[in-house]
Amino acid sequence: MEQNLFVYNTLSRKKEKFEPLNPPHVGMYVCGPTVYSDAHMGNTRTYISFDLIFRYLSHIGYKVRYVRNITDAGHLEGDAGDEGEDKIAKKAKLAQLEPMEIVQKYTVGFHEVMQIFNTLPPSIEPTATGHIIEQIEMVKEILAKGYAYEVDGSIYFDVEKYNQTQDYTILTGRNLDDLLVNTRTLGGQDDKHGKLDFALWIKAKPEHLMKWPSPWGIGFPGWHLECSAMSSKYLGHQFDIHGGGLDLAPTHHTNEIAQNVAACGKNPAKYWLHTNMLTVNGQKMSKSLGNSFLPHELISGNNKILSKGYSPMTVRFFMLQAHYRSTLDFGNEAMEASEKGFKRLMNAFSLLEGLKPSGSNEIEIQPLIDRCYAAMNDDFNSPVLIAELFEGTRIINSVHDGKMKINAENLQLLKTMMNTFVLDILGLKSEQAANDDLPKIMDMIIALRNEAKVNHDYATSDKIRNGLQQIGFKLNDSKEGTNWSKI
Ligand code: AMP
Ligand code: ZN
Repeated sequence: MEQNLFVYNTLSRKKEKFEPLNPPHVGMYVCGPTVYSDAHMGNTRTYISFDLIFRYLSHIGYKVRYVRNITDAGHLEGDAGDEGEDKIAKKAKLAQLEPMEIVQKYTVGFHEVMQIFNTLPPSIEPTATGHIIEQIEMVKEILAKGYAYEVDGSIYFDVEKYNQTQDYTILTGRNLDDLLVNTRTLGGQDDKHGKLDFALWIKAKPEHLMKWPSPWGIGFPGWHLECSAMSSKYLGHQFDIHGGGLDLAPTHHTNEIAQNVAACGKNPAKYWLHTNMLTVNGQKMSKSLGNSFLPHELISGNNKILSKGYSPMTVRFFMLQAHYRSTLDFGNEAMEASEKGFKRLMNAFSLLEGLKPSGSNEIEIQPLIDRCYAAMNDDFNSPVLIAELFEGTRIINSVHDGKMKINAENLQLLKTMMNTFVLDILGLKSEQAANDDLPKIMDMIIALRNEAKVNHDYATSDKIRNGLQQIGFKLNDSKEGTNWSKI
């Protein structure tokens, strides 16, 4: 925590020294996925970026409460997310399933993807449907403060009125007049008074599936409201970091700020952090543009734009080789370069354990460690950190080849540095380990089965044999003992 960490705050458009409101605690809210389809690689990039930030803040000693929600209702299709059909309900109708079956399916899938890329789970993962009461309370507060109005069972936020005393575009610094010119005019059917007004609570049509009673009749909450209600419930009216993809800043986050300020007079977060987009041929990866691909496609290579598959850690490494605020363009050549780079790093890592110190010393590691921290303290600059780790790799290889001498103290520093930055902070792991360790694990299982047989516990010994069979391993008993093979 003695670190001199600087983070880029979208709100001020500059790097600021990170000074949490209530150290050593840090409250961080990140907008989670809308669980109506598989998370694509663009979404995954955003969550890997915040995983890096979460890991680093924790590493330097902060006690981070990381809240990342699941949007399981209320996200409609329109640009501002408050017009048209509910994304989840639409999918449910198409698949002839309950909306909650869709929610369950894609929440489980999202968690699997997060695990595959070794991202740590958040501290709290609240769902929109689990916080309807809190959202209704917040609508009531905004109404009471005079910043919202009701039309036929729906409640809208009054942007024009808000902007008379507050700065509606404070987050992006955009010009409100330009915004008004570029927003389409209200249709005759529209209940909104102003073009920029957005729904806090939406009256449900009879055929609408996910709906709840409220003081204004049966309806459902607006997408922006969910995050305002859940962040203040778990992190208070003001917390340290609010994050999400850059595409969320102009509408979703702008509206979140307006709601929080209207309800309780405070911008909810001190630092607003935004991750930039994963692009394909320079275009944002997005489901609606049809240029998105899924994690399992990237791993298997089963997509027309991929020349082959890449391992999950290669993908994570590829993502971390770009700074989170730069766009990252996906390309097969770049992926292949990352594959080589990741292998080089992990090869050195595996040599490190076997390195022996010598009496003399030709290299000081502490300056390198300082540079690693300096990179991360400069707005989580993972590409610069990785460049420093390659310097570590070069040293490891030189010592291993006998071209450089390192004493015990520096060797220990080198080991600590590589473990800390590669495993704990970048969240990379060796993908070789599982295979290398397999023979040892199988020997242990065979020994347990032998023990069961010796004890005449044939139920257990059969259970082990059948269990292994089911996951693709065959045991072969002979006079010499038992060996195993893959089926
Ligand atoms: P969604 O499920 O659409 O609400 O998106 C989940 C998160 O992924 C949001 O924070 C988005 O900003 C982010 N996101 C969407 N597309 C991309 C992309 N191409 N690159 C990086 N992040 C993205
Ligand atoms: Zn949100």
